Amino acid sequence: MPKKSLLIKNPMLCARMDGDYGSQDMVNAFSGGHIYIEDGVIRSAGPTTFEGEAKEVIDAGRMLVTPGFVNTHHHFYQTLTRNIFNAQNEGLFNWLITHYEIWREISEKAVYTAAKLAIAELLKSGCALTSDHHYLFPSSTSGALIDAEIRAARELGMRFQPTRGSMSLGKSAGGLPPDDVVQTEKAIEEDALRLIKTYHDDSPGAMTRIALGPCSPFSVTAGLMQRTVEMGKEYNLQIHTHLAETLDEEQFCLQQFGKRPFAYLQSLDWIKENAWFAHAIHLNEDEIAAAGRAGAGISHCPTSNMRLGSGIARIKEMLQAGVKVSLAVDGSASNDSSNMLMEMRNAMLLSRLREQEKWLTAEDILWMATRGGSAVLNRNDTGQIAEGKQADLNLINMDKLEYSGALHDPLAAIVFSVSMHPVDYVIVNGEVVVREGVITKLDEQQLIRQHQDISRIIIEKAGRKTKNKYYR
Ligand SMILES: [Zn+2]
Repeated sequence: MPKKSLLIKNPMLCARMDGDYGSQDMVNAFSGGHIYIEDGVIRSAGPTTFEGEAKEVIDAGRMLVTPGFVNTHHHFYQTLTRNIFNAQNEGLFNWLITHYEIWREISEKAVYTAAKLAIAELLKSGCALTSDHHYLFPSSTSGALIDAEIRAARELGMRFQPTRGSMSLGKSAGGLPPDDVVQTEKAIEEDALRLIKTYHDDSPGAMTRIALGPCSPFSVTAGLMQRTVEMGKEYNLQIHTHLAETLDEEQFCLQQFGKRPFAYLQSLDWIKENAWFAHAIHLNEDEIAAAGRAGAGISHCPTSNMRLGSGIARIKEMLQAGVKVSLAVDGSASNDSSNMLMEMRNAMLLSRLREQEKWLTAEDILWMATRGGSAVLNRNDTGQIAEGKQADLNLINMDKLEYSGALHDPLAAIVFSVSMHPVDYVIVNGEVVVREGVITKLDEQQLIRQHQDISRIIIEKAGRKTKNKYYR
C-alpha cells in the first residue's frame, strides 16, 4: 500500500468540473463510486467501485464533493481592521484614506497572525488554493511580510500563490497613500527577486508560487507597472492589480493620464494572458472584448463591490467574451469576511439584479470558484476532480438544517442556501486539513485571542496619533 493514500467512497454527488466554461461537460457530476488519492494526486475518480485498499477511507454517502475552491484576491492583513467605525459608510477613496492611518501600524507579527486567521476562514468555507495581495510595507517593518504569509499558509496546509504587492506613488507625488507606506521601485524589485529565488516553485503541484501585484493606478508609478510586465515575462509569473473598481478611479485616470483605467493599462502592455485584475467593474463592451481576446483574467468580488457601493461587474458578458473569470472575497476591511461559500451566493444574487439574460447560474458560480480560479492563477493541475490532477477537494455533509429540502440538487443547494456551518472536510495536496469542520493544525481559540489583541493595539495606536474615532 502506498505511504499516503486516501479513498473517498460512495459520494452523494461529486462535481468533477471537467469542461471549459459553457461546454456540455462543464460540471460532469457523478453519484456513488469513488475518488482515490495517492501521494497528493487523484489517481482515479468515477461512478465505479474502487477495488483496492487505502490508508484512510472517508464515507461520503451524505456528502457533496467538489474541487477545493480557489480564492484569487484578498488582503489578509485587513482582517485586523474589519468594520472600522468611521469607515463603515464610505466609498473606496475615503475608505482607503481612513484605513491607511491604521494600516501603517502593522508589523511582521500582525501580518503573520492576520494571514493565519484569513486562511483559517477560507479553509472552513471550502477553499484549498488562495492568492493574497499584500501591497503595504510600512518603513517601520522588517519588510519580510510575504515571508510571514507563506509561513502561515504552510503551517495550516493551504496551497498559496501570494502576490508581491507594491505601492510606489505616495501622496507627495500625486498618489493616494501616505509617503511612509510606499517604497522605491528599486526596493520593490529587489524584494520581488528575493522572494522568487526563495519560494517560487513553477513545477506541477507546487504549494507556493509567487506573482507580482502593483496595487492600483492611484498608488503606483507607470515605471513600476512596466517593470512588472518585464519581470512577469522574464520569470514566467502571473501579474495582478486592481482595475476599474470605482468611478473615482476612472476620474483619477482621465485627469492624470487622459485615459480610462483600461486604456491606461493597455498602454503599459498589461492586457495579456498572464495578467489578472481585481474587480473590473467599469469596463465598456470594447474593453471586455479586448480582455477576452487577450485571455486576461479577473477576480469578481461581489461582497466588497456591494459594501463599498462600487457597482455591479458585467460577469456574464465577460464569461461569454472568453475572459477568465474567478471569484474572490477581497480584503476583510471591505467584505468583512473570508467566506467562499458566502461569496458564491452573493455573486449569484448580485447578478440577479441585472436583466434576466445576464443572470449567473449555480453552475456558472461553481465553475468560477474552481476552474475559473485555477485558470486565473495559471494552473491546470487544480480545480478539477480527474485523474492526474492535484488532490484538492471540498466535502460538505448535506444533512444540515440549511440544506434540508434542497437535496434534489445538492450542487445548487450550496449556492442558493446560506451556509451556517463550516464545510466538513478540506483536502489539500492529499492531506486532510479540515476534518469534521475543524482545522487540523490550529488552536483556533488561541489564534482568535492573539489576532484580536493585535487588532486592538494597532487601532488604539492609530487613534492616539490621528485623534480619529475608530470606535463606536
Ligand atoms: Zn483588493
